[in-house]
Amino acid sequence: MNRSDQLIQRIITSVEDLPGERPLNERLVQGIKDLIFRGELIPSTRLPSSRDLALGLGWHRSTVVQAYRKLVAAGWADSGVGRGTFVKQQQESATPLREPFTWAEVIRQDEGLYEMERVLSRNVALPDGASPIRLSGAIPDLRLFPMEDLAEVLNETLRLRGPQALGYGPTEGLTMLREEIAGRLSRQGTPARADQILIVQGSQQGLDLVVRRIVRPGECVAVESPTYSQALALFRNLGVRLAPIPLDEEGLRVDILETVAAREKIRLIYTMPTFQNPTGLTQSVERRRALLDLAARKGIPILEDHFDAELRYEGEPVPTLKALDTRNQVILLGTFSKILFPGLRVGWVAAPEPVYDSLSRLMRAVAISTSLLSQIVMAEFCAQGLLDRHLDRVISIYAQRRKALLDGMNEYFPPEAGWTNPQGGMTLWVTLPPGLNSVAVTMEARRRGVSVAPGPLFFVEGGHRNLSLSSTAEPSDRLKQGIRILGDILYEGAAGEKGWSGKKSEAGPLL
Ligand code: PMP
Repeated sequence: MNRSDQLIQRIITSVEDLPGERPLNERLVQGIKDLIFRGELIPSTRLPSSRDLALGLGWHRSTVVQAYRKLVAAGWADSGVGRGTFVKQQQESATPLREPFTWAEVIRQDEGLYEMERVLSRNVALPDGASPIRLSGAIPDLRLFPMEDLAEVLNETLRLRGPQALGYGPTEGLTMLREEIAGRLSRQGTPARADQILIVQGSQQGLDLVVRRIVRPGECVAVESPTYSQALALFRNLGVRLAPIPLDEEGLRVDILETVAAREKIRLIYTMPTFQNPTGLTQSVERRRALLDLAARKGIPILEDHFDAELRYEGEPVPTLKALDTRNQVILLGTFSKILFPGLRVGWVAAPEPVYDSLSRLMRAVAISTSLLSQIVMAEFCAQGLLDRHLDRVISIYAQRRKALLDGMNEYFPPEAGWTNPQGGMTLWVTLPPGLNSVAVTMEARRRGVSVAPGPLFFVEGGHRNLSLSSTAEPSDRLKQGIRILGDILYEGAAGEKGWSGKKSEAGPLL
């Protein structure tokens, strides 16, 4: 390659490296300016002839001529008839180095249902400043938190540990907390050792670490359909492909997963076998065994999200996949957030040894460690029996609320609506009467002061006929009031009445 060809090549590369869309001649101007800026094109260098460069770029010659003119006009180049175009000596800071800076050009595209989330999170102004009735989100009722217990634990911690409570903790987490969690799991029938427990800043971070360690961008994760919305958002952001697997009354359809796994290399199965988010469904023991058997035959690791399994209102506990797993193929993800203090951000991952070290190294790189103070608080709440005391209390309250929600639906919903009836957890799943659209229903409910979560948030695709309802965040009378309003909306919508069903266009762009 001669020098002129080399130069053409460098200019082409510089142009190709530019992010964003803009007219070709401007791309060329920017590409050449970047080379000058980086010192790769020094003053007095003769730029390639417009004909040669146009040939190299595969563009029309007039585009190059136009770009050269702009470079001359902006003081980056000089030209003379018959002499060609030369890089000009730059006056110190005489010319801005780049076009005005725009973030839109440098940040990577969001992946996920952000548009819908943005619309749904907009505050609704209610008359008299009333707060909306919250029937959405797998969240505990903050008003029930034992604040006096917390104040005592914090005071004691600061008195006994002083500033030591506010330093960095070990990456793996506070030993006392890891022991408490391992003991708790073991007592509940899932044998675990403290050295298998990695403390993370909420199980959301555990999910991130595990997926990043096991799945590369472009590879495939099998997820339940529907599944936890922020898991979908995370997977999309990590650039992994998703294989949605439907659920029935017994949980994940292992037979369908088998078919999918026959034609597609599945790297990880993400499942919530107990009180699944959003449906509340619990996988039967037979289904769990079938899933483990499939995972064993295909060599696929399972990530079991154990987020709200302790919130059981009726029926017998079902063993975790981890407890049934004889081949060390399951990673268990847990959190305190669904019972107590989600804002302290304490979750954990129980992982087999080879993956444990790898997760812990990644944890150090991305977060150093989880807040020590948060961990001490949670460890003390476990050790002093305060967590169990609170759990007993909220289980009885949440059981009543669940009943109020179900009674309300029986009373106020049209007979064509259907819903799941979970034995515990935070959410249940509604199938709307035919012809109703879940986003339109959600928007109208918001207008009338009730917040619900529309189906598409939980699906890789589709979900327009479903709503997720949560029974934990509000007292029973408010839940019932919310269900009555929602019932009115469903009746009106099913009857095709004017009014809200005419507002579908508001939700249009989201669908
Ligand atoms: N998994 C599921 C199924 C959840 O619903 C949530 C919280 N909404 C999480 C994980 C993450 O919770 P955290 O990070 O607070 O532990």
